Parts: sequence; C-alpha cells; structure tokens
Amino acid sequence: MTAPASTTPAAPAISRHYQVPIAYEADVVVVGGGPGGFAAALQASRMGARTIMVERFDMPGGVHTSGLQGAADSGVGGIHTELMERFAAEGHIYTATQSTHPGWAGNPLSHYERKKPLGSDFRRMSFNPEGAGCVMSTMLKETGVTALYGTTFVDAIVDRSGPGDGTITAILVENASGLQAIAGKIFIEGSGTGELVARSGAPFVRGGGPQPRGTAWDGVQRPIPGGLLWIMTGIELLRLISHQESAKDPELQKVMAEAAAAGDLPEGVYRPRMSGDNVYGEAYIGHPTLDMSPMAENGTYVLWQNVPYEWALHMDDTIADHTRAKQELRGFINAEARFLRKYVPGFEHATIANVGRFVGIRDGRHPIGEYVVNIEDVRAGRRFRDAISKPMTKTFFWEGFNKHDFEVPFRSFLPKSIDNMILTGASLSFEYRTLFMVMRNFPWCTQTGEIAGYAAARCIEQKIKPKELEWTTPYF
Ligand SMILES: Cc1cc2nc3c(=O)[nH]c(=O)nc-3n(C[C@H](O)[C@H](O)[C@H](O)COP(=O)(O)OP(=O)(O)OC[C@H]3O[C@@H](n4cnc5c(N)ncnc54)[C@H](O)[C@@H]3O)c2cc1C
Repeated sequence: MTAPASTTPAAPAISRHYQVPIAYEADVVVVGGGPGGFAAALQASRMGARTIMVERFDMPGGVHTSGLQGAADSGVGGIHTELMERFAAEGHIYTATQSTHPGWAGNPLSHYERKKPLGSDFRRMSFNPEGAGCVMSTMLKETGVTALYGTTFVDAIVDRSGPGDGTITAILVENASGLQAIAGKIFIEGSGTGELVARSGAPFVRGGGPQPRGTAWDGVQRPIPGGLLWIMTGIELLRLISHQESAKDPELQKVMAEAAAAGDLPEGVYRPRMSGDNVYGEAYIGHPTLDMSPMAENGTYVLWQNVPYEWALHMDDTIADHTRAKQELRGFINAEARFLRKYVPGFEHATIANVGRFVGIRDGRHPIGEYVVNIEDVRAGRRFRDAISKPMTKTFFWEGFNKHDFEVPFRSFLPKSIDNMILTGASLSFEYRTLFMVMRNFPWCTQTGEIAGYAAARCIEQKIKPKELEWTTPYF
C-alpha cells in the first residue's frame, strides 16, 4: 500500500517555463465581472473600445449575482439605473412591504427591518440574482464585449524596462482552453479583492486594519468578515410569527437552547454579536439568531452566514483561510437548515434553494492609489479638483451612523507604480475605515465601473495613459 501524499506545505520551489499563446488582443481588458468590472466593460465597449472581460464564474455581477446579494433600489443614475429598470422589465425585481409580509418590520429575525417599529410599513426591493446574472450577461453580449466565463486571471506581465511606472502588457488566464495570454492597452481591476494590483506588483495594504473606535485594539489584524448568502424556500411566515408570539420567543433563543441541548445545533451556527471598542458591533458582525430577508412572495428568503469575526480569515490571499470559510460555512448552512426544519414552526417544509458560489470578501486588499481616500477627507468634507461626482451624502457606519457629505477624486482610481491600470468597485484606493460606507455598495461599485470604462475609452481615443487624462468635470 502506498502512503498518502503529504499535505504539509513544502518549502522548495518548482520552476517550469511555458510558452503561452496570446489568445486575444484588446484595447481594454477587464479582470473580474462584478458590478465594477461589468459596468467598466459595458461603458468602454459602448464608447467604441475593443473590450474583453474575464470572469471566473458563469455570469457577471459578482457578489450581487454569484454571491446572491440581490439588494435593489430605484437606481443612482447611469448603468445602475439602467440595470434596475431592465431587471424590473424582465420580472426579476420583487418588492416586499407590510401588505405582502405583515408583521415583518420590527421582527428581530429581519436582517434589514428589525430596528423598525413593530408592524410598521416598509419597502424592501430585491432582485433575483440568477435572473439578474442572465440579464447582465445578455447586456455585455448585446454591446459587443468579449466576455470569457469560467476564466480565472492568474498573473500580469509587466514591462518595467522604462523609467517610472511599469506597464502591463498582458494578463495570463486559465480556462477550458488552458493557459492563455490576453494582450491589451488599458487594464481594469474589477476583481473586488485587488488581484490585478497584487499580481502586477502595485502596492496595497492587506485587509484587516485596526478596527473602529480603536482605543481597545488588541493588535490582531482581523479583516471585517466576509459572508456566504443562501436562499431558503417554502417558509411559512405567518406560522413563524405566530410561534414567536405564542412561545414568547421573538429571537428563537428558547428553541435554539433546546436544540443545542439535544445536540442538534452545532456551536457557531448562531453566535453572540461581538461588542466593544474593536469591532463593528451591530454592523454585520455577529450572528446571534436567524437572519433573513424576503426575496419573493412565496416564502423565499435570503439568509446570511458570516465568517466568525474572531477567526480573522484572510480569504483573498491565504488558501487555508479561503477553504476553511467555504467548508465551515457550508456546514453551518446545512446545520441551520436542519435545525429550522426540525424545531421552528413555519420551516417544516422549507428547503435550501441556492447557496452563493463564493464567500463574499468584504475586507480584501486595499490598493494604494495616487490618492488614498481617508476617513479624515470624509469628516472634513474635502473637495477635489478631479472629483468624479458631485458631493455625495451617505451614512458612515464608522462614524456612529452619521451622514457625511464628501467627494472622491479620480486619482483614487489610479494605482501607484502601474501606468495603464484603472481601479473599480471594492478595489478602489480607500483606507479600511471607509469600508462600510458608500465605498463598497452595489450602486457605488457600478458607478465606479462606469467611470473607469469611460476613462479607459477616452484614453484609447486620445492615445494617452490614464494618469495623463485631464479630469475636470464630475461624471455623476
Ligand atoms: C457578504 C457581502 C454582503 C454584502 N452586502 C451588500 C448589500 O447588502 N448591499 C450592497 O449594496 N452591497 C453589499 N456588499 C458590498 C458589495 O457587494 C461589494 O462591495 C461589491 O459587489 C464589490 O463589487 P466589485 O465589482 O468590486 O467586486 P465583486 O462583486 O466582488 O466582483 C468581483 C468579480 O471578480 C471575479 N473575480 C475575482 N477574482 C478573479 C480572478 N482571479 N479571475 C477571474 N475573475 C475573478 C469574481 O468572480 C467576481 O465576479 C456586500 C458584500 C459582501 C461580501
């Protein structure tokens, strides 16, 4: 009998040289098809640039399709509004209100509505992530973008022979055709985790800085946890609410204790929210109870399993952390579904309908751009000559949920050390303390992609590098 192969990490390196065919050449090459990469590819192509987008999954949309985060609203302008209108026209938007979900507002199990007065009116729009992915895929095709799905970006070829910044000449991707190179003029970072930045040697800060209200920071670099979303169908809301009321168990704590005592609820599935100075407290971190939001009228809800904060996982750059998150959270989801069916009235016939294709990463690499947007800029309401939009007013979780009025400069789209890359979405140049504000939501990421696509196409037209582009007028 042969011994199993060792899985101990080995120190020596293996060297092998490949001849990689240049399979495609384009003006604009986009890495990742999330809201940022999708909008960048669409806009660049609409402006006449030959555009190619690579995406490791089977559709564009990133966290919002493959990751099942279908938060919708009426649109913030540009491609984002176009998306919302198209999703609605194709029947992919669902709006839950007090009349469709009586008693849902103020219910402690509601992810979004739990803090509202009990039984008050609410309006929660969501889009069907699978339907949305189909629409987004069609839009890219209609516009003439060459989209390669099932295609993983693995490396960047950078020419550093000249003075100053390096220039990316091609990227390497792996897909059904094997290892391929894609040559281009402008490269757009749309991976959501700074993959293109890291592989091209541009500078970044690892996720997980000192945490908010930092006085009690204990020195552990804990990234703000990512999360795996899943969809459960066949839930009878009225039976659930009637159980919460009759058993006087609004958070299902009694039933959870009963299941835990019987060995039917593994530790970690529901865990207390961490509190204190060095965590985000109420903002996403804990998972003390069932956490769900309506996705459709017929008893279909999206549920969350976040990575426990204390695990401090770096899923973007460490495969052991990445795998642990996927493995453990799938285990949690299975256990949660089993528990709900067995113990909670209203869930007897509920089933797992879908689990996100990946554990979304909230706090991956933070690229360092020609300007790094800082929380102090936000506090001061700083104005920039190269502002990409008119001043925006948004809620800042870091700042005690206060609203601030702020601008973002185009320089935060331009990474240091590379002269032909433009950043988008969650990979813009922002410090970690801005993470839970506007800088990382779906509308904003789509807007930044549209701006990046516009900038890339302008550079192609003018035969200049992004850092030479004069940015004087807000786009939005
Ligand atoms: C768990 C979670 C919940 C969230 N909840 C909300 C919410 O309720 N509302 C809201 O507005 N925002 C929410 N956000 C924030 C928002 O979803 C993200 O910030 C946003 O999706 C970032 O957009 P992006 O385009 O930069 O990256 P992503 O959406 O992460 O998309 C990146 C894309 O790049 C692809 N990719 C990555 N690496 C490679 C590679 N090597 N090769 C090929 N393709 C690659 C991925 O497959 C993915 O499709 C949430 C985020 C997370 C993680």
